[in-house]
Amino acid sequence: MSNDPKSGKPDTKADANAPSPNPASSNFLRGIIDSDLASGKHTQRKDQSGQPLPTVITRFPPEPNGYLHIGHAKSICLNFGLARDYAGRCNLRFDDTNPTKEEQEYVDTIIDSVQWLGFDWQDQGGELRFASDYFDQFYAMAEYLITAGHAYVDSQSADDMAKNRGNFSEPGKNSPFRDRPAEESLDLFRRMKAGEFKDGEHIVRAKIDMASPNMNMRDPAIYRIRHAHHHRTGDKWCVYPMYDFAHPLEDAIENVTHSICTLEFQDHRPFYDWVLERLAEGGFFTKPLPNQYEFARLNLTYAITSKRKLLQLVEENIVDGWDDPRMPTIVGIRRRGYTPEAIQLFADRIGVAKADSWIDMSILEGALRDDLDEKAPRAIAVLRPLKLIIDNFPEGETVECSAPVHPHHPERGVRTFPISKELWIEQEDYMEVPSKGYFRLFPGNKVRLRYGYVVECTGADKDADGNITAVHCTYFPDSKSGTEGANNYKVKGNLHWVSAAHALEAEVRMYDRLFSDPHPDAGGKDFKQALNPNSKEVITAYLEQGMSSAKPDDKFQFERHGYFVADRVDSKDGKPVFNRAVTLKDGWGK
Ligand code: ATP
Ligand code: MG
Repeated sequence: MSNDPKSGKPDTKADANAPSPNPASSNFLRGIIDSDLASGKHTQRKDQSGQPLPTVITRFPPEPNGYLHIGHAKSICLNFGLARDYAGRCNLRFDDTNPTKEEQEYVDTIIDSVQWLGFDWQDQGGELRFASDYFDQFYAMAEYLITAGHAYVDSQSADDMAKNRGNFSEPGKNSPFRDRPAEESLDLFRRMKAGEFKDGEHIVRAKIDMASPNMNMRDPAIYRIRHAHHHRTGDKWCVYPMYDFAHPLEDAIENVTHSICTLEFQDHRPFYDWVLERLAEGGFFTKPLPNQYEFARLNLTYAITSKRKLLQLVEENIVDGWDDPRMPTIVGIRRRGYTPEAIQLFADRIGVAKADSWIDMSILEGALRDDLDEKAPRAIAVLRPLKLIIDNFPEGETVECSAPVHPHHPERGVRTFPISKELWIEQEDYMEVPSKGYFRLFPGNKVRLRYGYVVECTGADKDADGNITAVHCTYFPDSKSGTEGANNYKVKGNLHWVSAAHALEAEVRMYDRLFSDPHPDAGGKDFKQALNPNSKEVITAYLEQGMSSAKPDDKFQFERHGYFVADRVDSKDGKPVFNRAVTLKDGWGK
């Protein structure tokens, strides 16, 4: 673990790199690693320079073609978490073999998101890698496969190739080019590389079995022509490896032991093994070779994680960008107020399974509540303000009140704020005619103004339309919280408030779930029909005056309301804008 104070890593790093204390996080992958350790499968391996290699090497291999989302966070916590817990290493590797979709912007945000989550690929010698750095090696290995008779250049049209592939009930047909001499294929491949052909004119295919029941083994393509500019290698290449060919090679080059991917790659595993076996025979790799293991991807209710659909939300301005706090992107949930610890807690709680299932959004939200309950300082916010006038309070006078920063942590001190003649309270805290069981303000009732005095309601002012414009009360000067007299008053209501003359007026964005349907895009549904019309409401609220010093990303529990974060984008010095991260209780359950 690197301790470089200048590395600018979030201070959560220490937490992320401590062994997971949660035994529930044991899973089938740990079982596999444990038995590999017991059998000594990966011991005594050395890297190219003769240095001993750790017995567990994983990688997180994003394609830099979009923003990471909560599903990727699961994979990050899994891969980096295994490396951490087994004293191994985990590379952050950009799988940038498809030049037309990839951009530097995505590389930057992905690096930022992984670091923010609290993981460091440098631990135990892990590295930041780019598959594009291996293009020369991939190319040489493809040439070897051609020379050894394990691959050939196919010159069929794309249509013929698709037709001859067969389908699930019918075997495929051999390409007429399948048995062309290796020298001819090699010559064509070199000319493909030299730029002599147009996209799609030729393709390199592995020579396996056109009758295989596994479609992925019917001579899969391994190299194709793409006259495209690559964000890192520029115009050096016009042939690019296919994902299924490149991925096992990347793993083997990096000495990965456990290559963890999502279930849809299960049928690709035979090819993964085939290609590594052939290259081991050719002396490119030594055994033990990396093994691929599949786990269930995260499916989160009330969310979508398809990159294409997320892009649609952004492009059609349904949300305010990739980092809109309602987005399931890492930049979005971070801006929403999520902490790295909450996301790790979530990943621990959901575990890792071998069968697909749905995880309820409330588990993610619950992890945030549990993390912030301990951490977040308390503050008072009046979100739907109504004036309360204490008629017998001396004009122009203030009295200081105090409250703990955190109710369970007296050592974190107190915060102070003034009470004065005019206050803001919540509209819902007054009723002219109380309903049954209502014990807040109504004429004749006494309540405590939290951390302040007991008051008795005397009535309210109304405008011409009958709307309540201000509530009136009188206070009992000997009833102040924390004084002896306080105990002489027994009241049921305990209301929060801020002093009108001192409160900070602030924009508060009341975020809620983006979708009101738990499965917004299931079964071919149009996810735009499932949007929650109330997922964002912008209000002007009155906050405890100390909130003016809140810095971007500072999180608070606004008493009675929930957890809020000072927006990292729009907050200004002395003028924070707050986002609701999550309510205090789950209102979606029933
Ligand atoms: P694409 O369609 O572009 O391939 P992708 O979501 O698979 O999208 P990648 O960049 O290929 O994106 O993913 C990087 C890693 O994250 C992969 O190892 C992938 O298995 C994992 N991953 C992606 N989505 C999820 C998910 N919902 N749950 C768990 N892991 C995921
Ligand atoms: Mg992918």
